[in-house]
Amino acid sequence: VRKSIVPHATEPEDEQELARLEKLRSFSILDSLPEQSFEDITALASFICGTPISLISFVDEQRQWFKSKLGLGASETPRSQSFCANTIPTQEMLVVEDAQADPRFRDNPLVLGGPNIRFYAGAPILQAGHVLGTVCVIDTIPRSLSAKQLSALQALARQTSILLDQRKGLMDAKREAKRLSDTRENLRQSEAQMTLAAEAAGIASWYFDPARNVVGGDALMGKIFGVPGSEGPAEDWLNAIHPEDRDRVGKEFADGVSGKPYDTEYRLLHGESLRWVRAKARLLSAGGQQRMAGICEDVTSRKLIEESLRSTAERLRLAQSAGRVATWEWNLSTGALIWGDESLWAYGRPPEEISHIETALQFLHPDDLAGVMERVKPAIEGTGEYNVEFRILWPDGSIHWSQGFGKPVLSASGKPIAIVGFNIDISDRKIADAALIRTEKLAAVGRLASTMAHEINNPLEAVTNLLFLAQNAQNLEQAKPFLDTADTELRRASAITNQALRFHKQATRPTSVSFEELVSGLLSGRHSRLLNSHIVLSKKDRSTQPVLCFEGEIRQVLSNLVGNAIDAMHGRGGTLYLRGRDGRDWRTGKSGLLITIADTGTGMSRITQAKLFDAFFTTKGIGGTGLGLWISKEILDRHHGRIAFKSREQPGLSGTIFTVFLPFDAVVRQLA
Ligand code: ADP
Ligand code: MG
Repeated sequence: VRKSIVPHATEPEDEQELARLEKLRSFSILDSLPEQSFEDITALASFICGTPISLISFVDEQRQWFKSKLGLGASETPRSQSFCANTIPTQEMLVVEDAQADPRFRDNPLVLGGPNIRFYAGAPILQAGHVLGTVCVIDTIPRSLSAKQLSALQALARQTSILLDQRKGLMDAKREAKRLSDTRENLRQSEAQMTLAAEAAGIASWYFDPARNVVGGDALMGKIFGVPGSEGPAEDWLNAIHPEDRDRVGKEFADGVSGKPYDTEYRLLHGESLRWVRAKARLLSAGGQQRMAGICEDVTSRKLIEESLRSTAERLRLAQSAGRVATWEWNLSTGALIWGDESLWAYGRPPEEISHIETALQFLHPDDLAGVMERVKPAIEGTGEYNVEFRILWPDGSIHWSQGFGKPVLSASGKPIAIVGFNIDISDRKIADAALIRTEKLAAVGRLASTMAHEINNPLEAVTNLLFLAQNAQNLEQAKPFLDTADTELRRASAITNQALRFHKQATRPTSVSFEELVSGLLSGRHSRLLNSHIVLSKKDRSTQPVLCFEGEIRQVLSNLVGNAIDAMHGRGGTLYLRGRDGRDWRTGKSGLLITIADTGTGMSRITQAKLFDAFFTTKGIGGTGLGLWISKEILDRHHGRIAFKSREQPGLSGTIFTVFLPFDAVVRQLA
């Protein structure tokens, strides 16, 4: 006799048990509500077998659950106590005539206590080779069943199995039906949503039926076209199209009917007003029938915006080219410089040659670079715009004046990320400015001439008066002071004319002279004055090259400066420094001769310093002309040179330093 084994519930022994459990669950029978067909089975079983208890039991992992239970209160019991579970491995009917006498069941709690099982007969419910449970009958007294009763019980178990299949089939059908109706509902909803969205977006829908030559559209379509009715002859719709677009659209439409993609824009005429639409369609064929299905959108406002954008851009472009405005964007993190194609106007170079800020800065005039960077700083820091004028070196060697304007672009967090701006070539304006300056200079010369006439006239008048007085004097003794004063006045007049004459007289030929040659002779006529004034001379020459210049003019400059220095030290003594060395103009980078003339004299007040180079400005009264420095500056300008000074009035530290710079090739450049 084979020993019956109750499989341990928590660890299903084999694949077989797992498959059985899966099969059981596929019927979704466990914990379902009571159903009449199953109730009928247990009623029949009890009736046929004459037992007080009858069950339809399904054996799960942990328990047996009763789908139908006649004469029993509990709805489930632990699997370990189950009689039915014993049919699972055997797949055969189990009959226990007296449980108390059966060693397999006599200790079972269901035998020891309620429901006090003594008799049990269970027929397995089979599904695809698995025992899912049993149809069983139970009695509280020992007994037996006839062969007919036993086969009836087996028949009821088979019926239960069929019931399970039917029940499942019905459930699946219901689920499918539900799914279908859900899908249909979803579809309806999304269709409604699409219509809504299309309406909100102003997208109309339409179709064309080639067989009947009719076009139909929704309400919006009718509104856009101004055509009443939802379906009408294709011509009615076509006639709403602007005459200038009609032929084109007609042709495109015909192409669409023959299968080409149809996507076009055209105008509609609504009485006086004009509307733009975009239409798109696809050719659909079903059951040998062809049909165009399409959408249509009123794009008038978009067209208007496009139009105005285009004309704005065009106007901007026009203004830009008229003003030769070159626009750009400078990326502050990468240094990239993006040009709006017009970089030629600003730099004379294509955008790719100046696509980085560093490269662009290379072409700035070296004298202007530091100043430009100073002005651009606020824009780099994101605090302000800039507007600066500077020179650009073009590839052809010419120098162009440019006006640069830039404005920072800030990120959302306020960090500067780029500078946008433009450059305008202002060379023409600069040339005009220069011409203006020259005109002004000429006017200044005119003013100078009249002032000079006045300056000379004064002493001459004085002389005339003094001579009259002298003529009418009693004797020579009496006349002497008048003549002396007249003499001084005349000297003054002659000094003024001399200075002016020398200035206006152009030397014919430039000569090459060294520092030594320029200063020698400068002091020869002044030795006694230097001695009398206790002035010591300190002269040093470290220059290596001569300069090509108008020697007489430069001598005049140096003579003026030395004269002024001696004047400043008159009566107090001091040192007169004369220095010569090679130097470089900090602005142009040109090399040349640098001459320093310094004194330990009185120094100059702020007011004097401000007016130093003005014509006729002098602090020496009758002893000065005020023309020396004015003329010196003019002479140096002609030589492309420079004059600068520093002066101090502090007692003990007072003095003045003048520096004169002369480019070596000053005159060559001027002649060229
Ligand atoms: P002038 O010597 O006839 O006065 P300048 O044009 O040579 O005219 O000089 C103008 C003025 O500048 C002088 O009157 C003087 O006040 C001042 N000045 C020029 N050089 C010096 C100097 N080395 N030290 C002090 N003052 C000076
Ligand atoms: Mg002087």
